[in-house]
Amino acid sequence: MSKKLKIAIAGNPNSGKTTIFNNLTGARQHVGNYPGVTVEKIEGYSKYAGYHLTIVDLPGIYSLTAHSLDELVARNYILDEKPDVVIDIVDTSNLERNLYLSTQLMELGVKMVIALNMWDIAKNLGLEIDHERLSQLLGVPCVPTIATKKEGMDELLQKVIALHEGKIFYHPTPINYGREIEEGISKIEEILKLEEPLLKRYPSRWLAVKLLEKDEDIYEKVKKTSSGERILQTAEKSIEHLKGIFGEEPEAVIPDKRYGFISGACSTVITRSYELRHTLSDKIDRIFLNRVLGLPIFFFLMWIMFKAIFRLSEPFTQGIENLMTWIGKLVGSFFPEGSIIKSLIVDGIIGGVGSVLTFVPVIFLLFFFIAILEDSGYLARAAFLMDRIMNRIGLHGRSFIPLLLGFGCNVPAIMATRVIDDRKSRLITILVNPFMSCGARLPVYTLFVGTFFSPRQAGNILFSLYLLGILVAMGMSYLFRRLMFKGESAPFVMELPPYRLPTLKGVLIHMWERGVVYLKKAGTIIFAGCMLIWFLSHFPPMPEEGNSKIQLEKSYAGKIGKFITPVFKPLGFGEWKTSIALIAGFIAKELVVGTLGTLYGKEETSLREMLKNDVYPDGSKVWSPLSSYSFLIFILLYIPCIATIAVIYRETQSLTWPLFTAFYTTALAWITSFLFYQTGKFLLSFIDNLGF
Ligand code: GDP
Ligand code: MG
Repeated sequence: MSKKLKIAIAGNPNSGKTTIFNNLTGARQHVGNYPGVTVEKIEGYSKYAGYHLTIVDLPGIYSLTAHSLDELVARNYILDEKPDVVIDIVDTSNLERNLYLSTQLMELGVKMVIALNMWDIAKNLGLEIDHERLSQLLGVPCVPTIATKKEGMDELLQKVIALHEGKIFYHPTPINYGREIEEGISKIEEILKLEEPLLKRYPSRWLAVKLLEKDEDIYEKVKKTSSGERILQTAEKSIEHLKGIFGEEPEAVIPDKRYGFISGACSTVITRSYELRHTLSDKIDRIFLNRVLGLPIFFFLMWIMFKAIFRLSEPFTQGIENLMTWIGKLVGSFFPEGSIIKSLIVDGIIGGVGSVLTFVPVIFLLFFFIAILEDSGYLARAAFLMDRIMNRIGLHGRSFIPLLLGFGCNVPAIMATRVIDDRKSRLITILVNPFMSCGARLPVYTLFVGTFFSPRQAGNILFSLYLLGILVAMGMSYLFRRLMFKGESAPFVMELPPYRLPTLKGVLIHMWERGVVYLKKAGTIIFAGCMLIWFLSHFPPMPEEGNSKIQLEKSYAGKIGKFITPVFKPLGFGEWKTSIALIAGFIAKELVVGTLGTLYGKEETSLREMLKNDVYPDGSKVWSPLSSYSFLIFILLYIPCIATIAVIYRETQSLTWPLFTAFYTTALAWITSFLFYQTGKFLLSFIDNLGF
């Protein structure tokens, strides 16, 4: 008795399905009808390697929607009749368009092999295709075939059998639909768990995507189930939410994401001997993804962005700062001079929290620009561009997106590393993520850059800090890969979504979603932190000495600060208030500003003025451009905030990595600032001696 194997052949019309079907079955075929519909079903039989093969030629289709009968028939055949393996016939000379169906078959969760048919035509068109890499990227075996010459048929069947027997590691790459849609999918999947019988027939992720796409057939099927109403309600809520963000129905956005995935895969595996591409996206990409120009353009855009952030936010920052000073004076005038309650409100709240709020416009502008870059599709290009460099340092472009997200906040960025399957690559991406300057560090940068550098230089200095973070992240990735996590990283598809004009609404929603976190933090953890710092700096209570500076130095804060200050002295910032601010920065980076605001108080002038005029006991200035830049390097590199450490613990499920991160980042920060400051000091004195 030989074993049975049921194979279905799927593919676009004219891709060569019938030719392959005939090749595989000879003349032994049978024409019937699909149960319940009038579409013709052609079934053939054959023997191969001890198997009785039943092969079905499905109708030629471009997609798997419920809009057309042919598509519905093909889809239901696969879902209901459950063939052991599907052979997806692809016209290789038109790979991008044909792979659209393939991605949908992959989502159906069936075992499949892709026949890269018309291989000869593709060759004649000058297309060079790396089919092994394509197999890796899709996670589906791909076999080149020329049906008319019966080439590749044996290989095709061998792969089918190997796959069926479980001899091939089979893991079709899930398409990543982007944060918002993925959130919708998870929500629907969660509630789909109520309907076990449904999940026996259909993969839950596929169902969720279909519901978001408003697939009528699936809608009807879900509606009939006992929890149908609840499931559909959840789906409709997600659809509404997504419509608000994208300005379009998810059913229009989801195909774009599939094309983005395909476009990325094709750009990776196809080498063209001459130019064939013609869509607008392709034309723009010829410049943005250019081998020589691509990266310089990326860095140029980043540079412009930071210059713009600084320039555009400056008047707002100044305005809020003046407002805070004014409020401080006004509120202060209600309370008796020197009273503790006045100090609490004016120094603690207005000085501390107020100085953090000053930078709200900067944060929102940063998120505004990031949203534009993301929504237009450019950020995906940046990741695509970085793929080659990332490969060289032992990571892949996939890691670049979580890294870029780190510009917003390291916590969600570290959670976003879940898209990286390979554990080693993922750990490296987590460990270097804190070097991506998060939004909370921006207020510290802006405060010091705005105070100690000219407005013309400010944007450049800001950009240089971000750049330094990227370089350190890359350098450390390289070291980690070489020293701790040896091995190659797995290949990945870098999605290339089509360019689209971002909608103002979408950009504003994205900006708000991220920015509001900052506002909430100011009202909660920053507020609490400033209260604590205020308490530490006003207790134990002293008999009135008339000199608040001496009183401050004798407080708990002063004592702690003075105790650790020697550690920072060689880095150029030997003022005890700074030391306290750095400790507070472990709670949240904005607290560095909040602490300085609280400790300097709000009564006389702005925080900037006070920083500028602050002197050591010997009368020399505390801050110079050199020492402030050294300080910012330290802020950039040293221990990430407590929330980041916690998320590293959660994502790695081990105490080793958060502790390791806390230690190595701080050590690296100290060494880098030390080298920078000492070299800078030496060079400056050298230039001085030359008499310039
Ligand atoms: P179907 O619509 O998917 O069933 O496609 P067919 O099997 O009818 O093939 C469509 C046309 O493409 C026919 O004229 C085939 O001879 C031709 N064809 C199929 N496979 C190949 C191939 O690998 N190379 C070339 N050059 N032509 C092919
Ligand atoms: Mg046919």
